[in-house]
Amino acid sequence: METVNVEGVILNTTNFGNSNRVVTIYTKELGKLEVNAYSCRKARSPLSGAIQMFNHICAEISQGPHVDTIRDAEVINFFPNLTADIDRLSYASIFFEVVNKMTLPKICEVEVYNLLVESLPILDKKNPQVAALISITKFMELTGFQLNFESCVRCGKKILGTASLCLDEGGAVCENCTHGAVKGYSYSENLRATFENFLHYDFQTTKEINFSSRQIQTAEKILFRHVQNILGQELRSINFLRQLQP
Ligand SMILES: [Zn+2]
Repeated sequence: METVNVEGVILNTTNFGNSNRVVTIYTKELGKLEVNAYSCRKARSPLSGAIQMFNHICAEISQGPHVDTIRDAEVINFFPNLTADIDRLSYASIFFEVVNKMTLPKICEVEVYNLLVESLPILDKKNPQVAALISITKFMELTGFQLNFESCVRCGKKILGTASLCLDEGGAVCENCTHGAVKGYSYSENLRATFENFLHYDFQTTKEINFSSRQIQTAEKILFRHVQNILGQELRSINFLRQLQP
């Protein structure tokens, strides 16, 4: 049995048995891993503090022929606001469920790991809705499932003025190609600027996140629909958020 040391972000945890958990960690070294954490729900377990969703940890993992087991874990960083505020928790959970569902195990993509590490502080402290949409937009760019925001998916011309955004076709369709009718979502210049700002958002900036709430609502609707279309399923975290909303 080989033991490896990894750094990772906890994407999900599922309880099993009286005191155990299956933990999904996106690691810097090995990509996404699903590992068993035995007895971690016992108060005196050395793992109990570290094995919590959203924690950034370093861990020692024993790799068995069928099952990997986490032996030791230490918290590098944790984000107390994420679990203290239901809105923040919901949006952070959506981003984490998207990453969990759209990545394959044991395929290492360090950009995905870096995105998780960089997004956690803004999910914890800034506008959680905008923080989640920025993170999902950047993640879609990394996975290659991004909608084409800039040019028409049919004729290739740069989009100017109002156009359509058509999820079935993978992005923007210009007015020439739709003969002036809206196909899918109406795609205004403001909405296009919002997606561009998400994509190029600098996680290191100290500036407050400031976007128009109307554009944010539309961008959310489009991004969530797009992700769920790709996955071919509704996300539990998105349904949970909908239940919270009036
Ligand atoms: Zn066109």
